[in-house]
Amino acid sequence: MGLFALQVVLVFFLVFQLSVSNIIAGNRALPTVPVNGLAAITQRELKMHLSFLASPELGGRYTFSDGDHIAARYLASQLEAFGYRGGATNGSFFQNIEFFANFIDTKNSQLKITSGNVKGLSLPANFIFGKDFFTATASSVDVEAPVVFVGYGISLPGEQDDYAKINVQDKIVLVSSTIPKSVSRRVNYGQYGASAAYAHGAKAVLILPEGQINPTWSKPHLDNYLDNDGLFQMAKPQENKAQANNEKPEIEISLALAETLLKAINLSTEDFFNLDQTNKPHTQAELPLSINLKLVSERVTKKTQNVVAIYDGSDPKLKQEYVLLSAHYDHIKSEGKEIFCGADDDASGTSAILTIAHVFSSGTVPKRSILVVFHTGEEIGLYGSRYFTDIEPLVALESVVVNLNADMIGRSRSDKSSSPLNQELTDKGSVYLIGSDKHSSELHKLSEQTNREITDLRLNYTYNAEEHPSRLFYRSDHYNYARHGIPIIFYFTGLHADYHRSTDTIEKIDFDKLTRISRLIYATAWRVSNLEKRLVVDRWKK
Ligand SMILES: [Zn+2]
Repeated sequence: MGLFALQVVLVFFLVFQLSVSNIIAGNRALPTVPVNGLAAITQRELKMHLSFLASPELGGRYTFSDGDHIAARYLASQLEAFGYRGGATNGSFFQNIEFFANFIDTKNSQLKITSGNVKGLSLPANFIFGKDFFTATASSVDVEAPVVFVGYGISLPGEQDDYAKINVQDKIVLVSSTIPKSVSRRVNYGQYGASAAYAHGAKAVLILPEGQINPTWSKPHLDNYLDNDGLFQMAKPQENKAQANNEKPEIEISLALAETLLKAINLSTEDFFNLDQTNKPHTQAELPLSINLKLVSERVTKKTQNVVAIYDGSDPKLKQEYVLLSAHYDHIKSEGKEIFCGADDDASGTSAILTIAHVFSSGTVPKRSILVVFHTGEEIGLYGSRYFTDIEPLVALESVVVNLNADMIGRSRSDKSSSPLNQELTDKGSVYLIGSDKHSSELHKLSEQTNREITDLRLNYTYNAEEHPSRLFYRSDHYNYARHGIPIIFYFTGLHADYHRSTDTIEKIDFDKLTRISRLIYATAWRVSNLEKRLVVDRWKK
């Protein structure tokens, strides 16, 4: 049977089903879903997009990888060809997101005793970052100043004030890393340690070691940190060029450097630790020397992007409102030669939304506008959607009437599967729906009725409860829209043995089911976009 014949049968079947089920169920009339629109959602197109997105040649779609950027380009090009306009700044299809982190440039950071009188030390004396001193705070500092030893450095006015008789303004403070037990329960942040020193005007703070052993610091090399994306945060657009960190650093020093400094006030480390560990009072004193401390911080950035496109609605008024269709196109990181293609997660949802977007721009124009957002950075913490909702919403969030989000909608449990990890996968005729009743009972009813009339899938609400231990309501991009009060539906076919593994590949995709779920999303979106009145939010109260 050729493709044309197949479509005729399909169209007949859909029309038949639509009219019959309406009569039987006695449902209220919702906007009629174009039959040719449903028929235009084909396995062939879904497979075309998914084959590209989940291809090993792409090398995976990890958020900051080349594959991520190439996938974004593919999506943008397709949407442009479909007749969409770019939804980002200046009509671009890319909402650029910059991540940044500050790191210490260890080679150019130094501590020098520049002047003074220290027995047995020729000046200037250089000390090395990572060996003699260390800080985890990546701020830029360049200061030359005398050093003041403040003992415990407690500032508890009326009780114990180690700063009462000594001026540390514009000086470098040398402070013990401990505080006596007698006050430890009563001091707050800002009343001891580095914070108290900075509060008294110190330029920098050196922290003495805890005991007679050298502190160990993890290798402070930039390269060690670069791959740790947990250290990176999203920059706000206007902050992209800003010099970052104004945090005040706490600089830990080695036993050897401590010995050198304490010797300048005739205190041996032995005596110092004896006092320190028995909570006896120290004597504050200015050291007869000056230190030049230079910390150089480097701002490292990484870039990624959401793909954002708009198909304008036909109604002059309602086109100001948006039906938001979303999926995340990023995936987790490939490991060495092992490529993580993420066919189900979430090339399946991405291909579905792209195909649905195509259909929306091919026939009757819906009343409300269609907003397509392909999110990036989902796997590393729902970053793309959070950027859209919290940092740079490209349309007013109040104008978004619904978010239909597809994440992992391509798999079915096969009867043969023995893996216990596949037990929660839906069967061929089922899909999990999450969140449909959280904001709008009208949306839930519309979704149910649409499925009954058109797609006849078994809608499974196992994961719908927010308190379900799997917490799926919180685990994909729809959540960021939901918490802003936007009605959402999250479509999902279930976790499986290949989840977040290199075995999540295209040959395991159930394209027949993916087609049916895509039609359900399309039909639901079509109806919401053509309602006379926008969906009523009657449930959400957070
Ligand atoms: Zn996912």
